[in-house]
Amino acid sequence: MTESKLHAIVVGSGLAVWLRPRGSPNIATGGQGIVLYPNGVKILESVGFDGSRAGGVPCHGYRMLDKDGKLLEDIPIDFKGRWGAEMLMMKRSDFRDELMRIATAPATEPSIKGEPAKLVFNTSVVDLDPDTGTISLADGSVVKGDIIIDGIHSTLRKRIIKTEGHVAKKTGLTLFRIAVPTKDAQEAVGSLPEWWDDGKDESRLNIMQLDDPLRIIASYPIRRKSYHNLSCLFPMHEARQDILETWYKDGDKEEMLQTFDGFDEKTRKILSIATEVKVWDLEELDTLPNWHRGRALVIGDAAHAMTPLQGQGANMAIEDADSLRLLLPGMSGVEIESALQKIDSIRRPRAAKVLQDTRKQTKSTTLQERLATMDYNCSYKGIYEALEKEASSS
Ligand SMILES: Cc1cc2nc3c(=O)[nH]c(=O)nc-3n(C[C@H](O)[C@H](O)[C@H](O)COP(=O)(O)OP(=O)(O)OC[C@H]3O[C@@H](n4cnc5c(N)ncnc54)[C@H](O)[C@@H]3O)c2cc1C
Repeated sequence: MTESKLHAIVVGSGLAVWLRPRGSPNIATGGQGIVLYPNGVKILESVGFDGSRAGGVPCHGYRMLDKDGKLLEDIPIDFKGRWGAEMLMMKRSDFRDELMRIATAPATEPSIKGEPAKLVFNTSVVDLDPDTGTISLADGSVVKGDIIIDGIHSTLRKRIIKTEGHVAKKTGLTLFRIAVPTKDAQEAVGSLPEWWDDGKDESRLNIMQLDDPLRIIASYPIRRKSYHNLSCLFPMHEARQDILETWYKDGDKEEMLQTFDGFDEKTRKILSIATEVKVWDLEELDTLPNWHRGRALVIGDAAHAMTPLQGQGANMAIEDADSLRLLLPGMSGVEIESALQKIDSIRRPRAAKVLQDTRKQTKSTTLQERLATMDYNCSYKGIYEALEKEASSS
């Protein structure tokens, strides 16, 4: 051990905003929904995350509906009872704000430890050197530390992976997303559809599907049920150059309504009152051959971008961030490299499996099939337990 402090630099931290010791800048994320499963929630709660501050609505199962909103299947799930934490449905901006709080708050709560993170906004990192642990900023300055990077369109990944060609690719799936206030929907349609779960104690994640041609609307309540997120997914056979997977691309409401022609009038009316429509051409990244080099590690979407079909991308980023617990103040360069190797050995195979399972969701998977992979996803309890399991199985 040669140093008394660990200087962790998180480049382009979006949702993987916290770490131990806490840290990182953040500018990403839009206003629509995000679903966090028990694997992510458990880890975040251990560092002071409070889902109620983020307006999180606990999910109590899934509901499958046809294009007219008729119930086909109801699957209640006790997430907390089965996996030790709620599945939470949140507005992204509320979730991001709570992450920012736990990253920057002084250590006054028992679970919030270490020095508050220093956040730097609107600053591009243009290069990094994994061997010396330095990053170069667009203004020409150089900062030294231990480096972690993330972000689907990361330009720095190649400094760590070294071989060419590891870039996110389009999947052929396009997604419109909107968030509609409950009161606006009520005014527009009179009585809300059953799946809105207005006034009910328990809420579901709803999947409304039209098979020919395939169209899916996934919906769930957010911000203490005062909004509903609607994610409208369809295969776009020709990738459009004008749609990147970014958080900021505006979608065309008329195009969304035309694409989702065929769904019942109430649902289409609700789509029509959206004041902001965002669109994504969904992308994913093939499994990388390595995640680390020298003092640098790639995590989050830069390491394993996947489509939201299992809602596991951010959960994986949270699990990655949890693995940084292995980096301790006072570690030498050699010790840091060894810790990064351990992180790679646990995190890379797990993210690869979740990516494979996510790809299978694109073929018309039944809810029961989805439940089978959920057990693998939600049972994860963090890096220490994963290392113990690995040691006992070898
Ligand atoms: C439509 C949609 C819905 C989703 N829903 C869910 C869900 O319900 N549940 C779930 O778990 N996951 C979901 N995901 C996936 C989830 O959003 C991502 O996995 C998560 O945002 C990844 O976090 P991140 O921090 O790795 O990257 P990001 O959130 O993309 O943040 C990366 C940040 O890095 C910045 N950056 C990149 N390069 C640089 C640089 N060189 N210098 C400085 N800054 C840089 C970017 O500007 C950005 O701010 C969804 C994804 C999409 C597209």
